[in-house]
Amino acid sequence: MIELDHSEVSALLSDYYEGSLSQEKSAALNQHLSQCAECHAEYEAFKRTMGSLQKLPPISAPSDFVGKVQKKIHARSQGRFFERHFLLRIPYEWISFLLILLMLAIYLIRIQDQVQTVKNASDAEVLSPSPDASHEAAP
Ligand SMILES: [Zn+2]
Repeated sequence: MIELDHSEVSALLSDYYEGSLSQEKSAALNQHLSQCAECHAEYEAFKRTMGSLQKLPPISAPSDFVGKVQKKIHARSQGRFFERHFLLRIPYEWISFLLILLMLAIYLIRIQDQVQTVKNASDAEVLSPSPDASHEAAP
C-alpha cells in the first residue's frame, strides 16, 4: 500500500478528480482523504471550483486568433519564429549536419592513412626481417 503525504496528495488531486490515477494510487489517496481533514477540505474546494468552471458556457476563439498570435510572436522574437520567408534564414541545422559529415570523412581518411602506413611498415619488416641485413645492404 502506498503512503502519500500532504504535498503528494495535493499534487494528485486533479488526476484523482479526473479518475486518471492508478487503482493503487487512487486507493492510497482515498485513504489519505478519509483521515486528513486538511486535504479533504482542499479536495472539496477543488471539486467546487471544477464544478463552477464546468457550468460556464463554452466559448470559442475568434477565427483570426491563431494568425494574430503568430504575428505577435514573430514580432516579439524579431523574426526568429513564424518567419514567412523561411528560405531566407540561415539553415544552421543543415550547416552543422554537413560539418559533422565533413569531420567524419576527414577522420575516416586519416584512419585509413594510418592503417596503410602501419601495413607498409610491417610489409617492409617482412621483406627485411633482420635490421642488420638492411643496414649492411644500404650504401
Ligand atoms: Zn493531508
